[in-house]
Amino acid sequence: MTERILLSSPHMGGTEEKYVQEAFDTNWIAPLGNNVNEFEKQVKEFTGSKAACALSSGTAGIHIALDLLGVQKDDVVFCSSLTFIASANPILYLGAKPVFIDSDLESWNMSPIALEKAFKAYEEKGKMPKAVVIVNLYGQSAKMDELMAICDKYNVPVVEDAAESLGALYKGKMSGTFGKFGIFSFNGNKIITTSGGGMIVSDDEEMIQKALKKATQARDQAVHYQHSEVGYNYRLSNISAGIGRGQMEVLEQRVNEKREIFNRYDEALGAIDGIEMMPELADTYHNRWLSTLTVDSEKMGVTALEVVEHLAENNIEARPVWKPMHMQPLFAECDYFCEEEDNSKYLYENGICLPSDTKMTMEQQLFVIKKIKELI
Ligand SMILES: *Cc1c(COP(=O)(O)O)cnc(C)c1O
Repeated sequence: MTERILLSSPHMGGTEEKYVQEAFDTNWIAPLGNNVNEFEKQVKEFTGSKAACALSSGTAGIHIALDLLGVQKDDVVFCSSLTFIASANPILYLGAKPVFIDSDLESWNMSPIALEKAFKAYEEKGKMPKAVVIVNLYGQSAKMDELMAICDKYNVPVVEDAAESLGALYKGKMSGTFGKFGIFSFNGNKIITTSGGGMIVSDDEEMIQKALKKATQARDQAVHYQHSEVGYNYRLSNISAGIGRGQMEVLEQRVNEKREIFNRYDEALGAIDGIEMMPELADTYHNRWLSTLTVDSEKMGVTALEVVEHLAENNIEARPVWKPMHMQPLFAECDYFCEEEDNSKYLYENGICLPSDTKMTMEQQLFVIKKIKELI
């Protein structure tokens, strides 16, 4: 095998160029136009959200959501610890303080027990968080019923970071539609891509109108250029949205392919004592954006990192699970709440993301499996 086997790469469906060409034909080479409108409509229809606004990135979506929820300097925002840094960076953009919450081992996502602990501690301090950022890691929905019940009890709004979980379901409802705001990412490595882009969704149409205003420099309704609040330049280009339109047509197909990839790994490796595949919570539908597992190094005689390195030597791209935010130098001063044990640290130290590229051939996947088995 000479060709590199990738973790997750862009996979075009075929109609993307037609929509991009449409943008050229009509000269809508701008961060607005028909592709943007149609792409938003598709995401609304697919997710069942009442309103959507296309943005230049998922990070921009989280930034705008927190801004609209009134997060300001020295405010506190709770956030999942086991995630990519983009979930937490916007908290810093607003001068607020992140407090990190551990995962549970059933969902790998925010633990309701740890969240309750954090609320109790901050209630005692007399400092309620302004928002909670809940991440749906690798395409698995968090325990939304339990988490929403806690946030509702304390009357704190939720931003659902569904950057990795477009197409996943929780009790029959689309991931990203549980919080006050949901955020999707169309970065190059995500389940579908616009080469770079994002979307903010909500059932509050007025809030999405405000998001649109924020994303376009917060211009007041006036012929002259007038501004009364801070805004950003965060709108999605009509060219990128053209790619998004084509990608939405193959989203369900991609979810099916991702799940097939996971099932093949599961069949080959799942029964091995010492390997634990990432679970799928009961009554949820995982989009399996990345196939992930943990390796018990004592039972297996190898560490997760050694597996990743062995695969790299064979031109296979695998990765450790995200390094938790509470272990990052950037957030060394931040508070962290876990259950009894530090689960996200365990998942980071023992977890592996396997190649989950939908362009990967069956032969290539069997090669990956062979290389893993060879080592253990
Ligand atoms: C990719 C990602 C983001 C950010 O999306 P961008 O479009 O790259 O800005 C946010 N959160 C998580 C969990 C992600 O994986």
